[in-house]
Amino acid sequence: MINLLEADFSFGVFNTFEKVSCPNAEKFLFALYDGNAIESVLMRHDYGNALCISTQVGCNMGCAFCNSGRRNSLPDSAEASPAKIRDLLPYEMVLQILRAEEAFRVKPKISRVTLMGIGEPLDNFENVKDFIDIIHHRHGLDIAPRHITVSTCGTVRLDELHRSSYNIAISLHAPNNELRGQIMPCNAAFGLDKIIEFARRYSERQKKKITFEYVMLENMNDSDNHARELAELIKGLYCYVNLIPYNETKLGFKRPNPERISSFYSILIQSGVRAVVRKEFGGEIKAACGQLCAERNIKNHDRIENC
Ligand code: SF4
Repeated sequence: MINLLEADFSFGVFNTFEKVSCPNAEKFLFALYDGNAIESVLMRHDYGNALCISTQVGCNMGCAFCNSGRRNSLPDSAEASPAKIRDLLPYEMVLQILRAEEAFRVKPKISRVTLMGIGEPLDNFENVKDFIDIIHHRHGLDIAPRHITVSTCGTVRLDELHRSSYNIAISLHAPNNELRGQIMPCNAAFGLDKIIEFARRYSERQKKKITFEYVMLENMNDSDNHARELAELIKGLYCYVNLIPYNETKLGFKRPNPERISSFYSILIQSGVRAVVRKEFGGEIKAACGQLCAERNIKNHDRIENC
């Protein structure tokens, strides 16, 4: 009987494969039942503990600066093609929270969840919606929608978020379509005009601020002109910009120096745009999506031994 069960059933529990820590942040590389791996990052803020979770194994969006879509060939290889391996199921997203709390004896419990790890949440939206229902439910993890953030590149399913009560973060990363297309191939299918139109309607209807994520890449999207163009693009929107200094990988992109980041930030502020430079979390623990998986040279179907 046990042999039969082992052959035909998986209880889908995964074990922590690796934990890496630095002040205020811990990163997990989780081994899944099928031998694939995903990552989550725990961030300890003054106002509570937050977990950034993965929603897919790999990712089809193919952002040029990101390791997550590049695991179908050599890690960190610029020639690698974008590749989602599979969607995560709701329980695999929930387990990231439970295992993180357990592994690091997180106190107080994780009260904020961001869907900003490996994967594009709207490309796995049915499972993501179920996951959010579970963690929001009072018999689930009872996490308030205002403490849940869905981060997306913007896809044709973006319109379905119009009435959502959770927070929305849109990965912008460039102030014009030409540059965004170079950095994010998905821009060809869903460009800045559609994103800005969505943001305008969303903030008017929901009276909620929308977040624009902007990964800062040296000599790519970090000039003063880019900052002015960005300010012009989002003028009048109820939003703020989260500037994210790039965590360097071997993909060829660099992090701008602090003076460049400061100049970019100042132009936004002087233009009346609300902006923050994201606090450093986990530079030394490879916190950019896909970095830890790539460093450990984990390929699609390699079997990961549970620890
Ligand atoms: S940055 Fe996000 S959306 Fe882009 S390839 Fe990486 S995981 Fe996918």
